[in-house]
Amino acid sequence: VGAPAVRRTRTRSVCCYCGVGCGVLIDAEHADGGPGPAGSRIVGIEGDPEHPANHGRLCTKGRNLPATARSTAGRLLFPEMRRLRSETRHRVDWGVALDTVAERLAAIVDRHGPDAVAFYVSGQLLTEDYYVFNKLAKGLIGTNNIDSNSRLCMSSAVAGYKLALGADGPPTCYEDLDHARTVLFAGSNMADAHPVLFRRLEAARERDPEVRWIVVDPRRTDTAAMADLHLAIQPGTDVALFNGMLHHLIWEGLIDRDYIAAHTAGFAELKLLLRDYTPRMAADICGIAAADLVRAAEWFGRSPAALSLYCMGLNQSVHGTDKNLALIHLHLATGQIGKPGAGPFSLTGQPNAMGGREVGGMATMLAAHREIGDAGDRAEVERFWRLPAHRLSADPGLPAVALFDALRSGKVKAVWIVCTNPVHSLPDIGRVREALQQAEYVIVQEAFRDTDTVPYADVLLPAASWGEKEGTVTNSERRISRVRQAVPPPGEARPDWWIGNEIARRIEARLAPPGAAPLFGFDGPAAIFDEHRRLTIGRDLDIGGLDYATLDAQGPQQWPFPSGSGRGLARRYGDGVFATGDGRARFHPTPYRPVAEPTSARYPLRLLTGRLRDQWHGMSRTGRVPGLFAHSPEPELRMHPDDAARRGLASRDLVRVASKRGELVLPLQLSDEVGSGTVFAAMHWSGQFLASGGINEVSQPAVDARSLQPELKHAAVRVEKAEFG
Ligand code: SF4
Repeated sequence: VGAPAVRRTRTRSVCCYCGVGCGVLIDAEHADGGPGPAGSRIVGIEGDPEHPANHGRLCTKGRNLPATARSTAGRLLFPEMRRLRSETRHRVDWGVALDTVAERLAAIVDRHGPDAVAFYVSGQLLTEDYYVFNKLAKGLIGTNNIDSNSRLCMSSAVAGYKLALGADGPPTCYEDLDHARTVLFAGSNMADAHPVLFRRLEAARERDPEVRWIVVDPRRTDTAAMADLHLAIQPGTDVALFNGMLHHLIWEGLIDRDYIAAHTAGFAELKLLLRDYTPRMAADICGIAAADLVRAAEWFGRSPAALSLYCMGLNQSVHGTDKNLALIHLHLATGQIGKPGAGPFSLTGQPNAMGGREVGGMATMLAAHREIGDAGDRAEVERFWRLPAHRLSADPGLPAVALFDALRSGKVKAVWIVCTNPVHSLPDIGRVREALQQAEYVIVQEAFRDTDTVPYADVLLPAASWGEKEGTVTNSERRISRVRQAVPPPGEARPDWWIGNEIARRIEARLAPPGAAPLFGFDGPAAIFDEHRRLTIGRDLDIGGLDYATLDAQGPQQWPFPSGSGRGLARRYGDGVFATGDGRARFHPTPYRPVAEPTSARYPLRLLTGRLRDQWHGMSRTGRVPGLFAHSPEPELRMHPDDAARRGLASRDLVRVASKRGELVLPLQLSDEVGSGTVFAAMHWSGQFLASGGINEVSQPAVDARSLQPELKHAAVRVEKAEFG
């Protein structure tokens, strides 16, 4: 008897980690003539040489993806339920799970109204998954209480783009990295967080040694260590820096007056404010030398092509919107936008934070960049979904932090958490735990069974993961790529869109008035994408000309891609016409304001948080690969040697890090990458690896008033030697 035949396949898809959106080729083996759940496995990966995001390159995380998919250990394989919190969950079949969830949610809506239900979803979801959940919440249940963990990473960038340029989405593309002559990194450790794009920038600088890099970061990150000029500003002072740079550009006549006059509005008001931001005054706020601020402004203002790359360091702040705006002002005032190598380019953290925004999968927006507060926009969506007039709620839903506060207070009774781990990633996780304990009903839809959120689930719904499902994602340069299934999901795990669609159909049967047009009957992701596509027609992100067949035939495409265009648009606003009502970009006065929580005698240190090169989010996936711990093997708190000496602390001491909200214990690492008065901890380590939760035990939940994004990057803390026993 011969060995069973093994069939090998190679599937073109996308890495599931970061917003670079690298194309991959997944190698799989299917035994017994597969594919079949028992006989299929992912055995290898290569960068896709034809994908325009990475041209075949992958970073360490991407190269190790097969190792995360090799075993079903730690995967959720079957639906599980419990009736009482005191019970252990037990396995149920899908029919029971789907019916029970639909019944419980419909009953809660009957009793308490639609806003008693909330959804908390993820930038890891595919666009099609996102679309189903957004339609389920807003169109079927009638609540805008659907927010995403993208609130924690990108919402300040969204607010900045909308206020300044009139619409969400970067004006730039990856090709701009090749053409930029001055690169301003602001709050982005791109060397570690977006490594493949960073290599592209390195190659551009090798080709042209005149290219200059300015890095704005309180920490000497791997990116900062390679800068021509590192501005190690005091945490939270970015607005003062950008205002001071623009003051200098105005003073030196390095602004583009013609561009300002022809294409913008509001410059006179901003100029008035900027009178006070002399380089010396701004540099004093930032804690840097005025000469360095001036040098950065000169390099920016005299550059033939200035590109800004920014990320969490700007966004995760109570003034994140102002930070984004002040940076965009530099581009608008110098005309450094809409041309090769120039523009403000926000880098998305998650693989599909952009796709989630496109379908409107957040509490503050509607599909295809429509506004909840706009009656015309609501009416358009109502007509498209064939809903009764005024069915869509005009009230914004609860954004991430407020959503869990509402669960805690009992205002929201049930939450459905999809593909995210809020007990690790939200600020002040003690409050999040309380919220989930208080909740009447918690549904967790997950691929992995050991996240910090899973223990709170009344129902666990097993989800398909990377390499196991079909759909699309949009990367940081607005490029839509097909995600494809290489192997079937293990056990009874199902694609996220399928789970949402099945439960929605059951809720619809209970809640929808007789004769109402059915909202949910999707037979696959292609049908969902087609509905999403049609809803974008005529909007700034119009993808009327895109379908799966086009993506399969022509490869990944950037939006907008209207019908008949034949190709997407690489760079926006090249004609100087912005997405505002009058076509003019807007300047907004951006006064510098300090961080939400100043240091004090009791909490004298500034805590910064950030990412490690080889880890991702709460490590539910990267934490399964021993090789990915080689770079940073253990959790640690990094402290300047002078601060440690003052406290009698040494490297490897266990220290207690405490804020007004909570505490955790970490090993100490002495490091001069942070200045005196500042400490740093990576955000990845969770309750899977620590006796407590991660660094969000101590982070604080104050949010930006416009973007509603919390200040995860900064908190005032105390550090002392941990005493035990
Ligand atoms: Fe994946 Fe991002 Fe690395 Fe590309 S850069 S391989 S998308 S983690």
